[in-house]
Amino acid sequence: MKIFLAQLTTETNTFAYAPTGWGGFEEFGIYRGDASRVAPEGSGSLMRFMRTMIEADGHQMVESLCSFAQPLGRTVRAVYEDLRGQVLDDLRAALPVQAVQLTLHGAMAADGYDDCEGDLIARVREIVGPDVPIGVELDLHCHFTALMQRSADVIIAFKEYPHIDVEERARELYRILVDMMQGRVRPTTGVFDCKMVGLWHTTREPMAGFVRRMQALEGKDGVLSVSLGHGFPWGDVPESGAKLWVVTDNDAAKAQALAEQLGREFWELREQTGDNSMPLDAALDRALAVPGGPVVLADVADNPGGGAPSDSTFVLRRVLERGIGNVVIGAFWDLGAVQICCDAGVGAVVDLRVGGKCGPSSGEPVDLRVTVRHILDKHTQGLPGMTGRVPMGRCVWVEAANGLHLLLSSVRGQIFGTDAFQGIGITLTDKKLVVVKSTQHFHADFAPIAKAVVYAATPGAITPDFAAIPYRHRDLNYWPRQADPHAERAGVLPA
Ligand SMILES: [Zn+2]
Repeated sequence: MKIFLAQLTTETNTFAYAPTGWGGFEEFGIYRGDASRVAPEGSGSLMRFMRTMIEADGHQMVESLCSFAQPLGRTVRAVYEDLRGQVLDDLRAALPVQAVQLTLHGAMAADGYDDCEGDLIARVREIVGPDVPIGVELDLHCHFTALMQRSADVIIAFKEYPHIDVEERARELYRILVDMMQGRVRPTTGVFDCKMVGLWHTTREPMAGFVRRMQALEGKDGVLSVSLGHGFPWGDVPESGAKLWVVTDNDAAKAQALAEQLGREFWELREQTGDNSMPLDAALDRALAVPGGPVVLADVADNPGGGAPSDSTFVLRRVLERGIGNVVIGAFWDLGAVQICCDAGVGAVVDLRVGGKCGPSSGEPVDLRVTVRHILDKHTQGLPGMTGRVPMGRCVWVEAANGLHLLLSSVRGQIFGTDAFQGIGITLTDKKLVVVKSTQHFHADFAPIAKAVVYAATPGAITPDFAAIPYRHRDLNYWPRQADPHAERAGVLPA
């Protein structure tokens, strides 16, 4: 059997200060058919994982595009169309294939395309015809659209946030595709629109239990897969928001009924599962009240993984104003500061202007006298749950007065692993406060070393105020903007 694979992932913040262009994809690599072989420890790690599994089963893997861009604004039209064209050209050249497995994000938008994934899957369907199984793995921050649903046979989203289950979900999807190829199952999908916008951490109850609940239903009684797509709050497209879908073996009524049942269960948890961030000063107070350290503080509004600039200075400024010492903050995406420090060299004392470069959501730049402590030309960090490493580009560790340590980077990216800091020499366990520009992905690796984890609803690009996001394209009938967006369905859902 010949199985065709492609991977194209970016999450689009339609409110972001700049578009996603070639540079956004190039800095993480654009692999046109060879990622599993030339970047098996980096961007191609999922492709390598799939190749190992597929070839062990005696099937043939045809590998096409593999590319990721750090989230930012809508992808430039010509860039999306070129990347899409690569996938479709490779697919035509590979025909006939017996299955297609796509790794996509689910919240990618481009100029002229609100639903890049739906568009891509539909074009793949046109090429392979109605009888070749198409399976799609999505990030859980996806917008599950009608076009995706009718174009693919089976769609599976990650269940965990942080996304530690990327490979597990890919394996499940592959197994279902193999069962389809061999005529053992006929997947059908039912979906329920939860009419909710938010972020839901699966690291604590009751969401951790909801993940277990979904998994307990899978693999028996004809249920092939259950997914909760959380949606991406800063994607202003018509079909955004949280949706729950169920894939059964050829039982559409059961899929729909179970999707509604589980969607209502998730809705019922809404007051217990939502955002747990607090205003910046309250978060700093909470952190300082914890004996010892380190306390890990998430600067959630400047998470580049959600399309934020990663150079905001709101936390840095408050730390300085309050005289808090023994602090690590990172990573600031600041190309100019990185270059100045590299030119000055390790050991140099530099008057450095840090951050605040990208726009109002970055705040004002901060001027500091710093010592350049270390430089790495090609720094990387680990990604819990994946075998590959994430490029951080040229990175610099600088130290200012009062034990203030900053990590500066030349590739915009959120903090995933403790080795983002430790790999350049910044120790963490002896610090009072470690500030990460990340919303939740940091949690898997940092929680084990943290005395406490605090989420700060900092000012910035993606402040978690879900009722106030200035949507123009998606409807406003969602929780928490409306107390009960399901009211029109009175009698179906509890009030
Ligand atoms: Zn995600």
